[in-house]
Amino acid sequence: LEQQLLQAQKMEAIGRLAGGIAHDFNNLLTIIRGNADLLRSQFGDSADAALEYLDDLRLAADRAAALVRQLLMFSRQSSGQVEIVDVNSVIRGLASMLDRLLGERIRLVVDLSAEPATVLADYSHLEQVIMNLAVNARDAMPDGGVLTLSTRLLPSADIEGPQRWVQLRVSDTGVGMDDAVKERIFEPFFTTKGPDKGTGLGLTTAFGIVQRLGGQIHVDTAPGCGTTFTLTLPWAKGQTVQESRTPLPPALVRQ
Ligand code: ADP
Repeated sequence: LEQQLLQAQKMEAIGRLAGGIAHDFNNLLTIIRGNADLLRSQFGDSADAALEYLDDLRLAADRAAALVRQLLMFSRQSSGQVEIVDVNSVIRGLASMLDRLLGERIRLVVDLSAEPATVLADYSHLEQVIMNLAVNARDAMPDGGVLTLSTRLLPSADIEGPQRWVQLRVSDTGVGMDDAVKERIFEPFFTTKGPDKGTGLGLTTAFGIVQRLGGQIHVDTAPGCGTTFTLTLPWAKGQTVQESRTPLPPALVRQ
């Protein structure tokens, strides 16, 4: 627990730092992109070789801008709009999008608790955590497999803590991880997917959100044996207000 706390403090500091850098960086990128566009317009339609360099420059600046956007999203430490949310309805709301995301070769199995799995959280933050874990699971199963999302309510033995816990499991039958990778997955920018595919911010973001909810993330994995992420969140007593909430359109769900 102490280690998770330390990790959370580190994340928060890095988040703030990243946010500051992203902001300044964005201003610089605006200058770079603006000047590239200006220069580009001077060339008109001429077939100068310099045009190619200029287009490369513009492309790189655009990619950098996309990365900065992601950084800013990650560093936003807002607690969002906190309400009583049923994790089960979040999963139900995402199911059709997840199906599409996973494609034909990955089967989605959903096994939800009979009782509402209520927690005090921001609905879209929970969506983001589940999406990030699902995207990783998909990437870990290039040849297909099974992604299982399950929830359970657990009694709490801790008198000081909440009465119960909501446990969310995201389990895949993918490639798994060795110890060297497993140790680093929550580090910002750690990715094994290469700079074009991965940002290394998915799990850092998920970790930060879970931590702020007073929960924990645990990982079980081994090479070739798949991966299970177990999230334990403090149960919240009460009725949800957004039972009939319609799921967000895909474009609005942050990945
Ligand atoms: P990204 O997905 O951009 O690489 P993440 O922070 O989401 O960033 O994940 C970091 C790394 O953790 C991944 O690059 C991958 O090596 C590893 N990882 C995460 N989830 C899984 C999984 N379900 N199976 C295998 N490896 C995983």
